[in-house]
Amino acid sequence: MKRFAIGVDLGGTNLRIAAVDETGRMLEKLALATKSDRDRTTVLRDMCEAIQGVRAKLESAGTLAGVGVGVPGILYVETGVLRQSPNLPGWENFPVRAEIEGILKTSVRLDNDANVAALGEKRWGAGRDAASLCMLTLGTGVGGGLILDGKIWHGFLGMAGELGHMVVNENGVDCPCGGKGCLETESSGTAIVRKARLALAAGRSPALAALEREGKEITAKQVGQAAQAGDAASKEVYKSAGRYLGIGLTNLVNALNLPLYVIGGGVAKDWDLFAPAMLEELRRRSYIFREGSTRVERSRLGGDAGLYGAASLGLPEGAG
Ligand SMILES: [Zn+2]
Repeated sequence: MKRFAIGVDLGGTNLRIAAVDETGRMLEKLALATKSDRDRTTVLRDMCEAIQGVRAKLESAGTLAGVGVGVPGILYVETGVLRQSPNLPGWENFPVRAEIEGILKTSVRLDNDANVAALGEKRWGAGRDAASLCMLTLGTGVGGGLILDGKIWHGFLGMAGELGHMVVNENGVDCPCGGKGCLETESSGTAIVRKARLALAAGRSPALAALEREGKEITAKQVGQAAQAGDAASKEVYKSAGRYLGIGLTNLVNALNLPLYVIGGGVAKDWDLFAPAMLEELRRRSYIFREGSTRVERSRLGGDAGLYGAASLGLPEGAG
């Protein structure tokens, strides 16, 4: 009988669940809302109900090997307790894994969502042929994950991979982490919107001004669309995000000498808008990159990297 795992992406506003088999085929995928006004007991109960539903549906097709959950925040990986999570207020010091295991009566593994996305790309995405990789997820924030010799690198406190808080601009703006000029404040979707608003306020973007007149919200996606349609200020915003991403990558390439760096998250969809500036910085600043063998690629699994990675946690390679 085939084995499959269930992966969960437990976001602040969205909870997604997928079943993936050993060959990396996604058998089932669904999404639930996790509104912030709902307490954690309700969220966990809804999540476990959905997992049970998927398990029952696939029962005749295979056996459930395990469940993996990607959580936004810093975890005590060994115990499955959430240490810090700005996106899940009230979940700190909560034994998430034990709670889920108690309901499901199945072994559950938890990890940080960005680590899990990196694991997904390693096993079934851009990193299939690489032993090690580093992934940056450009979304509302910037998540980072390191896979070294096939395994997530957690660091001695379990806090490794906070790559969004590398300093890339000495004169940058304040970051929620308490720092200033972090990669996250320059190259995240939030940073793109902030920079676009500055251009808009300065009267430099007719395309965004038109959106604002229509009462439309300015999102990174909208800025990307304006840039794709030729709006010069929007193009400049993406270029700036790309330049700082290139500076961050230079630091990573020079420090780690990994064969592959994967760029994912919603912002990565507009790869052609930021990648030229990113690569230009890398070529200019990193002699290791200029050597020519280091790859910087777009995520292959896109928005599903975290789901694949969470399922991979529940389906250890070579086991069973
Ligand atoms: Zn920061």
